[in-house]
Amino acid sequence: QKPVVAVVGRPNVGKSTLFNKIAGSRISIVEDTPGVTRDRIFADCEWLGHKFSLIDTGGIEPFSKDIILSQMRRQAQLAIDTADVILLLVDGRVGMTPADLEVSNMIRKTKTPVLLVVNKIETKSLEKDIFEFYNLGLGDPIAISAEQALGLGDLLDEVIKSF
Ligand code: GDP
Ligand code: MG
Repeated sequence: QKPVVAVVGRPNVGKSTLFNKIAGSRISIVEDTPGVTRDRIFADCEWLGHKFSLIDTGGIEPFSKDIILSQMRRQAQLAIDTADVILLLVDGRVGMTPADLEVSNMIRKTKTPVLLVVNKIETKSLEKDIFEFYNLGLGDPIAISAEQALGLGDLLDEVIKSF
């Protein structure tokens, strides 16, 4: 059985974009339009000879804050129950949000390794924006740009180290 890597995070942080970049083919649907991304999409992936299953946990894009929170709790619980490594993806442009903190509080208590990944860091000048995420208590934030495929090799190195 291959290790399972689950990507969790708020709507619009770039989960599906990251998933598609790592999966190498556009398996899950990336849309700006709410309501398009489906639940729990799997891809078989490999990095440096290590095979793993990647899950995009993005569900129906919710419209209200309450629904966002309840869906994120559900996604986080799913990841806790099924994943060998959890990637918590946050948006470096938006900064830390209460929902990020809420999910961090859930996954910090588990034995499952968690990597904190700050997306949308395209330029050197944006790199300082990762530091506030130390407040989530999940260790060193890893800066990436899923869209520009920056930092993905370093991220995948950390993923396979966590197996
Ligand atoms: P999800 O809801 O978490 O699955 O997020 P998506 O992957 O659907 O992306 C949400 C929006 O963020 C889309 O408009 C993407 O083009 C954009 N996005 C994703 N990754 C990046 C990135 O690395 N940099 C920037 N600037 N935008 C990104
Ligand atoms: Mg999505």
